[in-house]
Amino acid sequence: MKMIGAHVSASGGVFNAPINAKKIGARAFALFTKNQRQWVAKPLDEEVISKFKQELEKSEILAKHILPHDSYLINLGHPEVEKREKSLSAFIDEIKRCEQLGIDRLNFHPGSHLKLISEDNCLELISESMNEALRQTNGVKLVVENTAGQGSNLGYKMEHLGFLMQNSCDKERVGVCIDTCHLFVSGYDFRSPKTYEETMLKFDTIVGFKYLMGMHLNDSKPELGSRVDRHDSIGKGKLGLEAFELIMNDDRIDDIPMVLETIDDTIWGQEIELLYSLVK
Ligand SMILES: [Zn+2]
Ligand SMILES: [Zn+2]
Repeated sequence: MKMIGAHVSASGGVFNAPINAKKIGARAFALFTKNQRQWVAKPLDEEVISKFKQELEKSEILAKHILPHDSYLINLGHPEVEKREKSLSAFIDEIKRCEQLGIDRLNFHPGSHLKLISEDNCLELISESMNEALRQTNGVKLVVENTAGQGSNLGYKMEHLGFLMQNSCDKERVGVCIDTCHLFVSGYDFRSPKTYEETMLKFDTIVGFKYLMGMHLNDSKPELGSRVDRHDSIGKGKLGLEAFELIMNDDRIDDIPMVLETIDDTIWGQEIELLYSLVK
């Protein structure tokens, strides 16, 4: 069963996220558990936590189908020690917020080398940061996302994700999230049955389906391999509907949160229906 939803607003309080998800007929959702453009947030109080749990129960969405996204400021591979440590402590704070809310996974972007160190060095720093975060927290899985590869962002090659999985000190608590727009613009085609199978075979060999713990469903405005991150509504971009039909009928991708981050939030409900209509 595919669990489709969207990255919904949590403004006014995290408990609004399951309410907003329910409104669009979602079976999964993503949210920010704090303002994603600020370093510090006030701790979640007991009242907010219990309200979140109540609303989640009412929405009938399961905790494992929530894929929170961390702050955009965090760079676990920052070449400067002080800034990397600041990132790590903000990351650990976000993991603890997930723990408090009963959420079992946290989605994050690998990090950027800022053209100051090599890609390999940066990947090692990211891996060390992840391992330190695992040691200092409990239960929550760290779900690293593939990226478009804009600027100096790592995560645009499957090998980057594979490296982070293989070098984890706790392989039960790491996973990956595949963003379909990022996958396409970073050079992986999957618009036909043939290219789809080739790309998924690569993914299984280099990363492994057992690590797949979420997906971001986005069509793409830019072309294949452009390394430009611009999402489009489902079926309206360069990916087109067939790519999503292949995903919706791939039973290696069941029971994980799959969330829209598409540009027009007024049609999320229709996009969710459209995606389910592709199931044969
Ligand atoms: Zn994404
Ligand atoms: Zn993106």
